Amino acid sequence: MNRDIEKVLFTKQQIEERLAELGAQLAEEYHGKKPLCICILKGAVPFLSALIQQIEIPLEIDFMSVTSYGSSAKSSGVVRIMKDLDISIEGRHVLIVEDIIDTGLTLRHLVDLLEQRNPASVKTVALLDKSICRTADIEANYVGFEVPNEFIVGFGLDYDEQYRNLPYIGVLKKEVYHIG
Ligand code: 5GP
Ligand code: MG
Ligand code: MG
Repeated sequence: MNRDIEKVLFTKQQIEERLAELGAQLAEEYHGKKPLCICILKGAVPFLSALIQQIEIPLEIDFMSVTSYGSSAKSSGVVRIMKDLDISIEGRHVLIVEDIIDTGLTLRHLVDLLEQRNPASVKTVALLDKSICRTADIEANYVGFEVPNEFIVGFGLDYDEQYRNLPYIGVLKKEVYHIG
């Protein structure tokens, strides 16, 4: 295990098992609808990659990169698009694929933004849900795991761009980000 990790919350195997369940549910929901799975860069890349292999129906993927306005410490919820989608979502069934929902401000704004583009539907799947921190009025339609109010890294989630490549999900030791 990486020495900066305090504890592992979900192992590679636990993640794989959960994503197989989620994939089966999503295949049922989107059967015959050829959904467009929108991966929110960069944190959701490993999640998207593993999840779509478990959704055994025709689908498409695209990528979007967003950032919050204002100070980096606090999410303002007003998102700025750094990289927009390559294709139109008009009439499409859209599934937003996110790494983690914390306050929910980012996802709330993203859903509102995409709904203005006349898709057939917009739903969301998040690998992790820190629901205790929610301030915005939004819940993901599908969630991998509920997590406690701690700083989580691994399986796409970073601290200062590090730890995205860990194959498990864990809690970062406090001394790592306090001394930084
Ligand atoms: P929200 O707008 O829901 O507060 O912000 C969600 C974003 O904050 C996530 O996409 C992620 O980038 C970041 N975030 C929130 N909690 C954590 C966490 O525990 N670990 C990491 N690595 N990022 C987090
Ligand atoms: Mg994210
Ligand atoms: Mg980050």
